[in-house]
Amino acid sequence: MRVVPVAQLADNYGYLVIDESSGVAGIVDVAEAGPVLEAIQKEGVELRAILSTHHHYDHVGGNEELIECLRPQELTVFGYAEDAERIPGITHPLEDGQSFELGSLRGRAIFIPAHTRGHIAYYFESEAAVFTGDTLFAGGCGRLFEGDAAQMRSSLGRLAALPDETKVYCGHEYTESNLRFALTLEPGNARLSARAEEVARLRGDGKPSVPTTIEIEKATNPFLRSDSAELRASVQTRVQGVADDDVAVFAATRQLKDNF
Ligand SMILES: [Zn+2]
Repeated sequence: MRVVPVAQLADNYGYLVIDESSGVAGIVDVAEAGPVLEAIQKEGVELRAILSTHHHYDHVGGNEELIECLRPQELTVFGYAEDAERIPGITHPLEDGQSFELGSLRGRAIFIPAHTRGHIAYYFESEAAVFTGDTLFAGGCGRLFEGDAAQMRSSLGRLAALPDETKVYCGHEYTESNLRFALTLEPGNARLSARAEEVARLRGDGKPSVPTTIEIEKATNPFLRSDSAELRASVQTRVQGVADDDVAVFAATRQLKDNF
């Protein structure tokens, strides 16, 4: 499998997922058709599928245009079954844990609600790669539009349980700002400082900060670190009346980030 980030709109990433053995590809999230069509042509691959993570316009807004542009070829469109009415062009609704094929690649859906109530990740276990949309970001997590802190924490927990080496491809280039926020809570986290410097270098060179890995996220992402004593103390100092439990600390961390 080869993954090519496709920059869309201001800071969105779609990802061309290429099965090198067959030349077949899928695209994770389509905000606009143009950049996807360019990427397909540049890479010389045959696009067979759209893998939609959630219904927001900056992730599915280009589905119908892309489908039209590629006719008469038929595209398979994946999305979460219970959110099918909000995924334009959906042809293959997926349930939690359901597997699917893309050329010789085999993936499965992981249901991770909270940013939206129908959000899924696409996990390719044998390739050690997961596409997390707007749920897990490098250094952060999505806003709670259709779910609460407990639900987001449990969705992130499902992703954090994947093997450490799993590469994480997220839906936006928010990493520099996410890590700036993280450093306000854990200035003593040496891995976090090193990671912030590495990302500043990458961005300075005009390169994407993705992919990250599950291991890096567990070491640096404040939304996976409610067990850090330093983070907990920082949050409890800044937000009044935060109970000493993981969900309360998580909710307060999210609240601080919303206002960062
Ligand atoms: Zn979103």
